[in-house]
Amino acid sequence: MRDTYRHKGLRKKLIDSLREKGINNEEVLNAMNRVPRHLFMDSGFIEHSYADKAFPIAAGQTISQPFTVAFQTALLDPVKHQKVLEVGTGSGYQAAVLIELGTRVFTVERIRELYHSSRDHLVSLGYKAGFYFGDGYEGLPAFAPFDRILVTAGAKEIPEKLVAQLAVGGRMVIPVGSRLGQKMILLEKKDEKNIIKSEHGHFAFVPLLKGKTNGT
Ligand code: SAH
Repeated sequence: MRDTYRHKGLRKKLIDSLREKGINNEEVLNAMNRVPRHLFMDSGFIEHSYADKAFPIAAGQTISQPFTVAFQTALLDPVKHQKVLEVGTGSGYQAAVLIELGTRVFTVERIRELYHSSRDHLVSLGYKAGFYFGDGYEGLPAFAPFDRILVTAGAKEIPEKLVAQLAVGGRMVIPVGSRLGQKMILLEKKDEKNIIKSEHGHFAFVPLLKGKTNGT
């Protein structure tokens, strides 16, 4: 599978539609314009790759809707060279967008099959990141603190261990709620005791689950 003019044209239209929906961070939009989203989905779904829709990937999970990826990434506001922890590697698409923004990405996935396939796939596309098979609730203490933490599955509550691994001056974006829907939460760590929390609209993610697994 290649990245053809047709794919590039469809992608540009998608990016234009995200701008129309209110995403105004051009750095994020440019990064998304560079990532061939169709290569992160099963080959039968190419026509859907550039629609603004979430889509099923392996192991009963989803690749997030492009609007959601753009929204979360803009809210995260990553700066070049920063250390970013992503919880929920999934297809690896979001990780690719973060890498395109010049950040050092550490990404954790709890389903072994997705961890393997996404790691191999990103590496084959030339994207470099730290890939970890584990429970994102635990974060990656060995590599903390992180300047940015992005959770791409819906959590019941904010995992304290992740907050502890956020650097002072850092930002964490996490959808919090039930399986039916979540509020997008931004945490800004001003200092160890002063963490500002704000809410940024409603979304629907697959659930953040505890533990890691060889199956689904
Ligand atoms: N960022 C992904 C979105 C994938 S959907 C992408 O761009 O495609 C969310 C992912 O989070 C799923 O793959 C799911 O298995 C994973 N996940 C859920 N709970 C997790 C946990 N506790 N630790 C790590 N990954 C988790």
